[in-house]
Amino acid sequence: MIRISVTSKLDGVRSWSLIARETCPGAIGADGSLVPACAGCYAVGGNYRYPNVKNPRMENREDWKRDEWVADMVAELRNDRFFRWFDSGDMYAIGLAEKIFEVMQATPHVQHWLPTRMHKFPKFADVLARMQSLPNVMVRPSSDSVTGEYVAGVHGSTIAPSIDAIPEGATLCHAANNDGKCGACRACYSKDVAVVAYVAHGRSMAKVVREQLAA
Ligand code: SF4
Repeated sequence: MIRISVTSKLDGVRSWSLIARETCPGAIGADGSLVPACAGCYAVGGNYRYPNVKNPRMENREDWKRDEWVADMVAELRNDRFFRWFDSGDMYAIGLAEKIFEVMQATPHVQHWLPTRMHKFPKFADVLARMQSLPNVMVRPSSDSVTGEYVAGVHGSTIAPSIDAIPEGATLCHAANNDGKCGACRACYSKDVAVVAYVAHGRSMAKVVREQLAA
């Protein structure tokens, strides 16, 4: 059974998600600790701790392995025009990535936004490149920074410490000026927007930002 998630920020755009951190191998840095962006992750606290939010994400971790999953996802998306993969969690397995690619290919009427840290693992390069080559897909490899750093041509998003510290070349996430919601903005789904800068929010992210700025 396909379990779709809906978050208030996305204003009607639906998602398919997993549990954060346990499906996020890219959250761990070379020194074995969480990278800054993941140390302040919004998806490990708040509403994400409640069973009605947690359970579907746990069930999805097994569900994608079903033979019928691709066909079921394609049918589920028949009325969507935009779709965000992973409002929590990440595309942790090659098998899952290949299935998501099949869903993307079979739903040209949907503009897909895929944020990920799996670009850190060379074995994902091929499937990520195939996804990005589709006209209806925007893969956004996430920078680990919470101080607005990113590498042009590698990253599709970063986190900025404040609205006054948006790095050159990045587009400010509209939610920062819209009560934390996307409204009609669809920048993340667009191939015309190379890098989106999300403004850090939430108490745990604020602490990580303070530590990083002081370092
Ligand atoms: S840039 Fe636009 S589409 Fe992306 S998260 Fe922010 S408001 Fe939503």
